[in-house]
Amino acid sequence: MTLNFSVHPNPDPTGPERRAEIMADPEFGKYFTDHMARAVWTPETGWTEAAVVPFAPIPMHPAAAVLHYAQEIFEGLKAYRHPDGSVWTFRPEANAERFVRSARRLALPELPVSAFLDSVRKLVAVDQEWVPGGGEQSLYLRPFMFASEPFLGVRPSVEVTYMVIASPVGPYFSGGVKPVSIWLSQEYTRAGRGGTGAAKCGGNYAASLAPMVEAAEHGCDQVCFLDAQEGRYVEELGGMNLYFVTRDGRLVTPELGTILEGVTRSSILTLAKEMGLEIEERPIEIGEWQEGARSGRIREVFACGTGAVVTPVGRLVWPDGEVTAPDTGSEESVTMRVRQRLVDLQYGLAEDGHGWMQRLV
Ligand SMILES: *Cc1c(COP(=O)(O)O)cnc(C)c1O
Repeated sequence: MTLNFSVHPNPDPTGPERRAEIMADPEFGKYFTDHMARAVWTPETGWTEAAVVPFAPIPMHPAAAVLHYAQEIFEGLKAYRHPDGSVWTFRPEANAERFVRSARRLALPELPVSAFLDSVRKLVAVDQEWVPGGGEQSLYLRPFMFASEPFLGVRPSVEVTYMVIASPVGPYFSGGVKPVSIWLSQEYTRAGRGGTGAAKCGGNYAASLAPMVEAAEHGCDQVCFLDAQEGRYVEELGGMNLYFVTRDGRLVTPELGTILEGVTRSSILTLAKEMGLEIEERPIEIGEWQEGARSGRIREVFACGTGAVVTPVGRLVWPDGEVTAPDTGSEESVTMRVRQRLVDLQYGLAEDGHGWMQRLV
């Protein structure tokens, strides 16, 4: 049985003037469209009540399990407006499939890939005027699922809610792409063997906030986490995967395991091969970064994810030193070429040879 989201239009949507005002400077995740998708699951009924409804706060029982035990997962993808006015999204099945894997790890019910796609399609269709058309603007889509059963016992919830909300977003870098500075977390790790590192769950983000505060105290924008076992291997940032460009034209990235398998990371693996770069997925010691950037064996470092696409990494800072890869931020850098290739694809300015783009409207 396929789950089909019915659409119930908002009788009182945002007026065109207010919407234009918001879209002129949307920032990130601050304003939301006029609708949201939702569905409810119980073991007896499976997924039911699938609908796109007017955007509104959700009533929640104070004992809802998610508030106590963080049984929650989410996704992040974008809708892009192409020059002819049509609206597209990028590899949504990859997000839908990852949502299924995250659900398994958090003992949540699996949402069929077709239902995930239907919810995104219907929401974007009804809120299509919220998809901006400016340079590197988009409509950010946030599917999520949480334990809504009011019960304080510790076991998988027998009432689960799935939702999608949407938020217009401006270019991640308003004043042009700027390198981010990274604090190398000494005390905290993000994910251990057998933990939830490979699942996209809110709990991972909650655990990254104290190290983020520490990073800010050291004048840095983001945190780099090392492996939990030995504190030796580079894993990723709080919400972005990492790539290294070597002097001999190789693109190196940490292998999968405890890191989150980014859709951007995986797309870059494919694009970079086509650009003639040799790819390596392998463990990377933190010393290889520190000494490589110093000696010039590592030319560039960048981070990637749906939000910022590709971001050059500038300084790596730790208690008794810092280092910056020599070719950071240059226009001809691999970082900026990979970035442009991906952005052109997403915004319909380059041929999509992979069938990655899906038309929504
Ligand atoms: C979402 C996320 C990423 C990036 O994934 P994309 O699919 O490329 O957006 C990287 N690391 C973490 C921890 C994440 O949660």
